[in-house]
Amino acid sequence: MNYEFKNRNNEDFIFDGDNIIIFDKDKYDEKVALELCKPIDGFRTKYFSHVALILNNNCNLGCEYCYANQGNYDKAGNVMNFDTAKKVIDQMFQNVEKNKGNKLGITFFGGEPLLQFGLIKKIVEYVNSVNKHNYHIAYSTITNGTLFTDEIIDFLKKNNFVVTVSLDGTKEAHDKMRKFKDGRGSFDVIAQNVRKYKNQLTLKGRLTVNDYNTNVVDSVLQIRDLGIDNIIVGVDANISDENFKIFMENYKELMEIYFNDLKNEKFYCIENITFNLAKIVTRRRVSSHCNAGRAYFTISADGKVYDCHRLVGIEEGYVCDIDCEFAEKIDCYSKKMDETIKQNVGERISSCKNCSFKYLCGGMCYHQAYTVNGKRFSKVSKGCLLITYEMKVVLDIITSLSVEQRKKFISYVMGLEK
Ligand code: SF4
Ligand code: SF4
Repeated sequence: MNYEFKNRNNEDFIFDGDNIIIFDKDKYDEKVALELCKPIDGFRTKYFSHVALILNNNCNLGCEYCYANQGNYDKAGNVMNFDTAKKVIDQMFQNVEKNKGNKLGITFFGGEPLLQFGLIKKIVEYVNSVNKHNYHIAYSTITNGTLFTDEIIDFLKKNNFVVTVSLDGTKEAHDKMRKFKDGRGSFDVIAQNVRKYKNQLTLKGRLTVNDYNTNVVDSVLQIRDLGIDNIIVGVDANISDENFKIFMENYKELMEIYFNDLKNEKFYCIENITFNLAKIVTRRRVSSHCNAGRAYFTISADGKVYDCHRLVGIEEGYVCDIDCEFAEKIDCYSKKMDETIKQNVGERISSCKNCSFKYLCGGMCYHQAYTVNGKRFSKVSKGCLLITYEMKVVLDIITSLSVEQRKKFISYVMGLEK
């Protein structure tokens, strides 16, 4: 399905969503289109190759909007058993060859994962000891950023971790929601840690827009001011309609700032944009929003498999226990997911059928759809509005930058993907 658009330079383009090609409306020339979007075969893993390990159900903060109920997923105190992690990792190593690949992803989650630093070390040491073929292991962790020490940072650095810090932007907005258990805001501690260690780590900042924080411009500026140049903007599924509108207006302002920065070759990453740009550049068509339940699974602290870390403890996301047949059960679940997901979101949600962006969007995050509609394979109107807007921004950016600026920006974005 084609989407016709005028970019900010008033030039007419067509985005052919089925083939992921942009071309000049007046002179359709595949050569020009391919120059804008060079096709590269996307690598897509089929078998379980990325795991999120929920190391504990404890957190030293008590964020008001936490989907895990202040980190405890309603089962406070659980800590993952090392043997559980070991079993899962052994299975993932067996899958690498089935995937005809050479990489695995391991994400450490909590609660607050750094409360279990000893366990992280033990697991990483085990992985490195069994990695006889030198596969690429992409380690990552999502942390509240309050517990950094020299020892922890040295270890994360040595093992090339990508560290995502949850930050809500301005101190005022952050402290309203992200508090220590005694009620103190956590911003100052995190800011101090990020400033101290930012040059030693690959850091990402994840901000959550919610009813108390709609000012995404100030938030992004604040996060960048701390020295984080890779930002993910998430929107709380429960945000009110009114505040969502305010956020969208503010987001448009942010996108103007972003475009002007890119034009001045001041490159930084707003992942919502760069991730989609990378999909266009590589002509990577997606059938779902993420790989949850296919190649990505989550293991809860009490040793159960879920398809998504946000659906832990919820029947909807439960796959199986870690028992002697868990590998077969995961494979079987993954096959069923493939059948349900089909080729594209238009085949499972009728109102997405004629959307030009269906191969870039892949539909909603299952957790968001489940939270809002009680059904994971459904559409959330606010989510759809946001994605549609982001796709239009990406197309505007890619066509409005000069050839030289575009080349440099694409090369920056593709560097982030590695
Ligand atoms: S959710 Fe919205 S943007 Fe995504 S495919 Fe459906 S209609 Fe398109
Ligand atoms: S379903 Fe949503 S929260 Fe879960 S892994 Fe996918 S995008 Fe992330």
